[in-house]
Amino acid sequence: MSCLFCKIIAGEIPAQIKYQDELVVAFADINPQAPVHILVIPKLHVENAAELAAQSPAALTAVFTAADQLAKTEGLTGYRTIFNTGADAGQSVFHAHLHLMGGRGLAWPPG
Ligand code: 5GP
Ligand code: ZN
Repeated sequence: MSCLFCKIIAGEIPAQIKYQDELVVAFADINPQAPVHILVIPKLHVENAAELAAQSPAALTAVFTAADQLAKTEGLTGYRTIFNTGADAGQSVFHAHLHLMGGRGLAWPPG
C-alpha cells in the first residue's frame, strides 16, 4: 500500500498524533494553514468523504465526533471542517481526511 496516510496510521511515517481510537486517527497537518490545523482520518482506506459515507457511516460519524472533541481540547470557540474532494478542489492525498481548522478568524468564502 503506497498511501501516505495509511503509512501514518501504521506508524511507518511519523506524525504528531492528537487522537486515535478503533475507527480514526487525528494528527497535526505538516503545513498548517491556521494556528490549529488537524487532519482527522478514518483508518479505513477510502478515497474521499462520499466513499466513506457509503462504506462506513460509523467511521464518518467518528471522524466528525473526534473533530468536535479535538476542537474542545484545543480550546477553539469556533472551527471549520473541510473535506476536499478531487484535485480541482485541492485534494492532494487520496485517503479521505477531514481538515479541522481554527484559532484565527476564518474568512468566508474560502478560496
Ligand atoms: P488535501 O490537499 O488533500 O485536502 O490535504 C492534504 C493535507 O495533508 C495538506 O494540508 C498537507 O499539508 C497534509 N500533508 C501532506 N503530507 C503530509 C505528511 O506527510 N504529514 C502530515 N502530517 N500532513 C501532510
Ligand atoms: Zn490510505
